[in-house]
Amino acid sequence: MTDIAIIGGGPAGLSAAIYAASLGAKVTLIDDGLELGGQLIKQTHKFFGSEKQFAGIRGIEIAKKMIRDIKEYDHVEVIDNATVTGYYEDEVITIVQGVNGDILKKLNAKRIILATGASENMLPFINNDLPGVYGAGAVQTLMNLYGVVPGNNILMIGAGNIGLVVS
Ligand SMILES: Cc1cc2nc3c(=O)[nH]c(=O)nc-3n(C[C@H](O)[C@H](O)[C@H](O)COP(=O)(O)OP(=O)(O)OC[C@H]3O[C@@H](n4cnc5c(N)ncnc54)[C@H](O)[C@@H]3O)c2cc1C
Repeated sequence: MTDIAIIGGGPAGLSAAIYAASLGAKVTLIDDGLELGGQLIKQTHKFFGSEKQFAGIRGIEIAKKMIRDIKEYDHVEVIDNATVTGYYEDEVITIVQGVNGDILKKLNAKRIILATGASENMLPFINNDLPGVYGAGAVQTLMNLYGVVPGNNILMIGAGNIGLVVS
C-alpha cells in the first residue's frame, strides 16, 4: 500500500512526486522508460519559456536535477521499465515490468496521479505511416535516446521551435 501512486516519470510526474514526498507522503512512481525523465531525456537543446521553469537549461540536465531531487527522499519508491496496464474497482493498479514484460505487480494506492504525457499530433495524410515518415518527436527519440540517425536528406515540415530544434 502506498499513499500516492504516480503513473509517469516525466517532468509532471517527477514534480508531483518531489512535492508530495516533501510533505511526507509515501510515493510510488511508475514509469515505462529505462530511465526517468519522460520527454526531457530526449531534449539536448536548451529550453525556451519561463526562467522559473528552467528556460536556458538543456532538458537532459533538467531531468538529472529532478532525479537527484527525488533520490533525497527515502519514502519514494521508483518502479521503472514498468507499464501500468490497468486500474480496477478494488483500487488495485496492475503493472507489467521487465524487458519481456514477464513480471506482474499489483499495487494498492490511496490516491493516484496520472502524469502519462501526451501523444504527438501527427499530420494526417495518405501514406504518413510509411517507413521514412516521422513526427519530429519520433526523430528526436531515435537520435537522442537510441543514437539512430533516421536519414541524410530530410524534408522538415513546420519551422516552429520543435521543427528548428530537431532540424
Ligand atoms: C520534440 C520536443 C521538444 C520539446 N521542447 C520543449 C522545450 O524546449 N521547452 C518546454 O518547455 N517544453 C518542451 N517540450 C514539451 C515538454 O517536453 C513536455 O511538455 C513535457 O515533457 C510534458 O511532461 P509530462 O510529464 O506531462 O509528460 P512526458 O514527459 O511525456 O512524461 C510522461 C511519462 O509517462 C510515461 N508513461 C506513459 N504511459 C505510461 C504507463 N501506462 N505506464 C507507465 N509509464 C507511462 C511515458 O513513457 C513518459 O516517460 C518539447 C516536447 C517535444 C516532443
